[in-house]
Amino acid sequence: MFYGLLEDFLFDDLYVTSYIGYMKKRNFEYTAGSLALNFIDTVSRREQEPIELLTSVSDFKVWLKGTELKIVNSFELSENELDFAKKLREAIYRIIKSTLTKSDLNPEDLKLLNKSAAMPTARPQLNNGVVIYHSKDPFRAIMSEIAEDAIVSISQSGSKKLRQCPDCKMIFKDNSRPQKRIWCSSSSGCGNRAKVRRHRSIKEK
Ligand SMILES: [Zn+2]
Repeated sequence: MFYGLLEDFLFDDLYVTSYIGYMKKRNFEYTAGSLALNFIDTVSRREQEPIELLTSVSDFKVWLKGTELKIVNSFELSENELDFAKKLREAIYRIIKSTLTKSDLNPEDLKLLNKSAAMPTARPQLNNGVVIYHSKDPFRAIMSEIAEDAIVSISQSGSKKLRQCPDCKMIFKDNSRPQKRIWCSSSSGCGNRAKVRRHRSIKEK
């Protein structure tokens, strides 16, 4: 039964959705530096003209496949679960914004975050010498993992690495050693554009 689940996943991944996954993965960027921050980034241009990238359950499944989540079993998701996931995502976003601006957190957001983090996580299983993660309730396990990552990022020590790109406003984690990153590394190329602007203004002087 357990091995069956693993095979289902591999089969599903390789043959059924890989083409669509490849086609659609280009909509998603995983450049924010952490699972929860990448999740927040599924609304692009948040502070300009927000674009919701998770418009359906299948979008969400494509996004999940591109993440570093550990769960291997295949599973279905419902519209209600997608709604819950988006509520959690928005709560995390608001908490991070409050953290960055040093303003008070909304207690309801904090409650949802902590409730999600308390959900049962996936557990490791040894399969032919390989560790794989399995959950009886994959959706809740995913919410738990995202919430845990958010909590670590928002915590007093973790939040020192939180940055917001001055150009596109994307929130990211500065995992570099000097921790002096200003610009995001999204495909919008904010850092490069800033460099070009600087060069031009130097030339013009
Ligand atoms: Zn940017």
